[in-house]
Amino acid sequence: MQKYKGKILVIDDEDVILDACKLVLKKEKYKIWTAKDGEKGLFKTKKFKPDIILLDLKMPGMNGIEVLKKLKEIDEKIVTIIITGYGTVNSAIETMKLGADDFLRKLFTPEQLRYAVRKGIEKKEISLKTLNLQKEQEIMRDNFIKIVSHEMKTPLFAIQQNLEVILSGMAGKIEGDVKKILERINMRLKGLMELINDWVDVLTYANSYKFVKKSEKVNLNELINNVVDLFRKKAEEKKVTLHINMSQNLPIIKGDSAKLEEVFINLLDNGIKYDKENGKVIIKTKQEKGYILISFSDTGIGIPKEELPLIFNEFFRISKEPNSNKKGVGLFISKRIIEAHSGSIEVSSKPDKGSTFTVLLPIENG
Ligand code: ADP
Repeated sequence: MQKYKGKILVIDDEDVILDACKLVLKKEKYKIWTAKDGEKGLFKTKKFKPDIILLDLKMPGMNGIEVLKKLKEIDEKIVTIIITGYGTVNSAIETMKLGADDFLRKLFTPEQLRYAVRKGIEKKEISLKTLNLQKEQEIMRDNFIKIVSHEMKTPLFAIQQNLEVILSGMAGKIEGDVKKILERINMRLKGLMELINDWVDVLTYANSYKFVKKSEKVNLNELINNVVDLFRKKAEEKKVTLHINMSQNLPIIKGDSAKLEEVFINLLDNGIKYDKENGKVIIKTKQEKGYILISFSDTGIGIPKEELPLIFNEFFRISKEPNSNKKGVGLFISKRIIEAHSGSIEVSSKPDKGSTFTVLLPIENG
């Protein structure tokens, strides 16, 4: 158990203020340090890791605003109480934008100081509790993913294997209604396993970018050409023509080629799947102000305006979706992958006319 109620650092060039704070706060059982300028204040922040910092705005040398910016770089969640005086109102407003937590006007009374510090400590405790809860939640989610993927998938897989053996007739002859029932069981089992895989994907992708390694050199034209080749047969079957319009000499970017391929597969697959017969899909790449733009436009069923904002949500399917087997996880995962590359993905669409999905990837990556 801590012997004191909290750790406080006061950064101010005026001895009177430092002495007054020390006197008042020591009596209240706070551990207190003082610093007479910004440099010393930053040094003591790193060394003592205070819960709260009382910071004067007007100091010789590094001013309060600069100190605050640096404090936030050291610890974004540090609680700061700004000491303002006459003539520092404008700077005080700027400190609010930088995330200052509270203000004390010179000359403040001991009671005002005690109150501001007490409130600051409460805020720190709440943000610590939230952080701990977040960590706990993350651990629970990771455990849940592990349980789902191992503890549930393994026995289901074993059941399916056994069923396949029975269905193949290797365990004895089966026929008629029994065979039909077993085949139905097998189909439901496959559906269940796919559902579990989708849930594991969504949970894995939902809260972490750890899954993307952004270190490979990626030639986007080449990658997209390979994806297009994968879909030629499917497009032909649906009588959809594929038009490729690629800008030559696209810069190479750095990224995770397998994950980016997953995104383009999803977008092209959707483009063909939701296109009309005899429709077309246009695949474009071009360079644009620090970005590479990749777009997939189809001439298909389109997406109703009111549903556009929901399209990248997990498990979303448009209301007139004819195929009820669809899972609605592809676009959700695609968005997460593109964001993990510091890029963006957007959609524009007109019902019955078609949709365009546009991906922007920054070139600085390269
Ligand atoms: P899935 O295709 O597996 O359902 P997605 O996440 O890729 O999952 O897409 C989510 C939903 O968005 C689809 O079910 C469909 O309703 C709609 N959608 C996606 N792409 C298109 C498109 N090109 N045209 C029309 N609707 C689309």
